[in-house]
Amino acid sequence: MPNARMRFDGKVALITGGNAGIGLAAGHAFAGQGAKVMIAARRSAEGEQAVAEILQAGGEAAFVATDVTSSASVQAMVAACIARFGRLDVAFNNAGIPGDVTTDIADADEDTFERVMAVNVRGVWLSMKYEIPEILKAGGGAIVNCSSFAGLRGGPRSSAYYASKHAVLGMTKSVALEYAARNIRVNAVCPGLIMTDLITSGFANAQEKLAMLTARIPMQRVGLPEEVANAVLWLASPESSFVNGAALPVDGATSV
Ligand code: NDP
Repeated sequence: MPNARMRFDGKVALITGGNAGIGLAAGHAFAGQGAKVMIAARRSAEGEQAVAEILQAGGEAAFVATDVTSSASVQAMVAACIARFGRLDVAFNNAGIPGDVTTDIADADEDTFERVMAVNVRGVWLSMKYEIPEILKAGGGAIVNCSSFAGLRGGPRSSAYYASKHAVLGMTKSVALEYAARNIRVNAVCPGLIMTDLITSGFANAQEKLAMLTARIPMQRVGLPEEVANAVLWLASPESSFVNGAALPVDGATSV
């Protein structure tokens, strides 16, 4: 009898932003469940390190240097995945940046707005656009996009980020409808405050700010990247076979 815990045996999972934080945790989790994992991000040293750790743990993985804002780079990412592993079954479109999270809109910088939209919105859109033909060739599969609790509500001083994460949900629902009858499910995960570089790098007084934000979380703690990865694996697995176009909060009740 096959090991019931190896949910992704024979499957290939592509993870953007897979060299750090939530994406890195997801890479380990997918590999631990039998998937071959293609890690895509810009920083090669961190990407190769992630691959080495997965290999050391007995998994299979490769890295492709990718900038998700570039169509050519995203197409090369998908091509590298096919060249290396021969197919694509699952994609976790997770690469994202916070931009400026400290400024009201009247004082906000237009270039930062463009940058946040380029990575968080165009990056997810391009990724799905070029992943889907390969997932169709594999006979279907699952896409999980990384939105945020910021996709489910408003918040002050980061309007570009909140807008970008709402856009991720709009794309998720629309593309889910486009491919619902063609065996590709498209869902989103909406993390709350998760302990990664993203939340510590955005503030000058990171520890003080973190304590203040943590106090506002109903569960009174930040989440761990692994807790988001668990939800991503469920959304990508047959266990969620009738879940499609959904936005799953993993946020300790922040968005309730
Ligand atoms: P990290 O900063 O730890 O990771 C971000 C990842 O995105 C890195 O792997 C980074 O790699 C990659 N990335 C950034 N820009 C690009 C680009 N242009 N092309 C390719 N890859 C890129 O943050 P998290 O793990 O926390 O964030 C992951 C996702 O989770 C993001 O979408 C974020 O918005 C979302 N999220 C995070 C929350 C949190 O509290 N941490 C809360 C809600 C949502 P590299 O720099 O090498 O390219």
